[in-house]
Amino acid sequence: MQRTNIADIVKNEEKEVELYGWVHARRDHGKLVFIDLRDRSGLCQVVFGPEVAGAPDLRLEYVVHVTGTVKARPERMVNEKIATGRYEVSASKLEILNTVSQIPFPVDTDGYDINEETRLAYRYVDLRRERLKNNLVLRGRVTKFIRDFLAERGFLEVETPDLTRSTPEGARDYLVPSRIAQGNFYALPQSPQQYKQLLMVGGIEKYFQIARCFRDEDTRGDRQPEFTQMDLEMSFVDQEDVMRVNEEMLIALVQAIAPEKKIQEIPFPRITYREAMERYGTDRPDIRNDKNDPNLLAFCWVVDFPFFEKSDDGGWTFTHNPFSAPKPEFMDDLMAGKNVSDILTTQYDVALNGFEVGGGSIRNHQPEALKAVFRIMGFSDERVQANFGHMIEALGSGAPPHGGIAWGLDRFIMLLAGEPNIREVIAFPKTGDGRDPMMGSPAEVDRKQLDELGLEIIKKIKKS
Ligand code: ASP
Repeated sequence: MQRTNIADIVKNEEKEVELYGWVHARRDHGKLVFIDLRDRSGLCQVVFGPEVAGAPDLRLEYVVHVTGTVKARPERMVNEKIATGRYEVSASKLEILNTVSQIPFPVDTDGYDINEETRLAYRYVDLRRERLKNNLVLRGRVTKFIRDFLAERGFLEVETPDLTRSTPEGARDYLVPSRIAQGNFYALPQSPQQYKQLLMVGGIEKYFQIARCFRDEDTRGDRQPEFTQMDLEMSFVDQEDVMRVNEEMLIALVQAIAPEKKIQEIPFPRITYREAMERYGTDRPDIRNDKNDPNLLAFCWVVDFPFFEKSDDGGWTFTHNPFSAPKPEFMDDLMAGKNVSDILTTQYDVALNGFEVGGGSIRNHQPEALKAVFRIMGFSDERVQANFGHMIEALGSGAPPHGGIAWGLDRFIMLLAGEPNIREVIAFPKTGDGRDPMMGSPAEVDRKQLDELGLEIIKKIKKS
C-alpha cells in the first residue's frame, strides 16, 4: 500500500497520491462532490467528478481510500484555514472501506459544549476531534522529550510493579484480591516511592519512569483515580542537584515542545513555604505577573516545608512524605524528637501558574532516621516493623544517600495545552465520580469470580 499522509500532499503537486482517512465534511454540488478528508496528519479537500463511482453515497465519518492527483487551487479558491489549503486532490477512484451507522456527536468542533459523559462514552469518536488529537500528540512529544533528555544524562528507565502492598498511612489504596492467598490483597501503587528508593539501594543510581499511580480519593477537577507521574530518583545528590536537573528539563522541554510559551523567570524563583502562605495564602502560588496571558508559564519552587503537622487525633503526621530527610540542620532534633513543629524537611515542590506540578525530597537513607520519623508519629516498633520493616532493612543494607521528585504529568500537560482539566489530556479518563462510561467500569463480576477469590459482597452502600 503506497499511502501518502494528507499533510504531505503539499509536496506532491501534479502527482498521483493514495489517501486514506475519514470524511470530515461533505458538500454535494450535484455534478461535483467535495469532501474534506481527514487523517491524523490533517485535512484536505478532495473533488469527485461524476465519473468517480460512489461519491454521492459518501456520508460524514465514512472511512475511505481515495486515489487522485494533487492540484494547485486557483488563487481565489485558496483556503488559508487549513495547512493544505493551497491544494486539492482531484479524485480518480474511491473505495469505501467502512460506512457509519451513526455518530453520537460532531467531531469538527472543539467539543467543549458536548455533554462530557457522552463524550467519554464514545471517546473513540471524541478522540477524532482535532483538539483532543493535538493533546495526545503533545503528550506523546512531552514523554518522548523526557525519555531522551534523561537517557542522555545517564538515567535508566525502570518499570516497577503495579501489584504491590498497602501502606495504610497514605491516601486510600485500590485493592486487588489475591486468588492464591485468599483473604490477602495487593494494593495498586499510589506512587513508586518505595520501589524507586529500593532501586537506589540496588545501585541503579539514576532512575526514572513514566509511572501510573492509583489513589482511591474522591475525584476533583484535576484529579483522577489513576494518573501519571514523571518519577525520578538519584543517588549521591543533594537538594540542589535534584532541583537543578528538573529545572533544566522543564526549561528545555518548554523551549522544545511549546516554543510559543514564555517562562516568566529563569532561574525559577524560590519561595519558602512560610512566605508562600503569608503572601499568597497557598503553598502553590500563582506568581504570574499577567494572568490574562495564556502563554505565560510562571514556575516557582516552594521550599522549607514543615516536616510534621498535627493530625486529627492530636499526634504528629508528615506533611508530604515520611521517607523524606529533614534539612541537615534539623537532623539532631528529628533524632531526639525535639522541637517537632519547627523541623523543616528537604521537600521541594514546583508550582506552575497556581498548580503543584511536582514535588520531591532528599530521603532518609539511614534506618535510624527513618525510625525517628515514625517514632515522632507515635508508631510502635511493631507497627513500623509490620508496615515498613522492608524499608528499614533495605536502608540498613548499604543504602546510598538519595533523593528524587515526581511530576504530575497530566496536570503539567494540561497547563501546556491550556486545557481546563486533566481529563482533556488523558486518552481514556474516568468521570468525576470514577466511572468509565465507555467500558462500563466499575462493574459487577460473576459469582464464580468472587468464589475463586473467596469474596462475598455482604452489602452495597448506595452513595447518593
Ligand atoms: N512519591 C512522591 C509523590 O508521590 C514524590 C517524590 O517525593 O518523589 O508525590
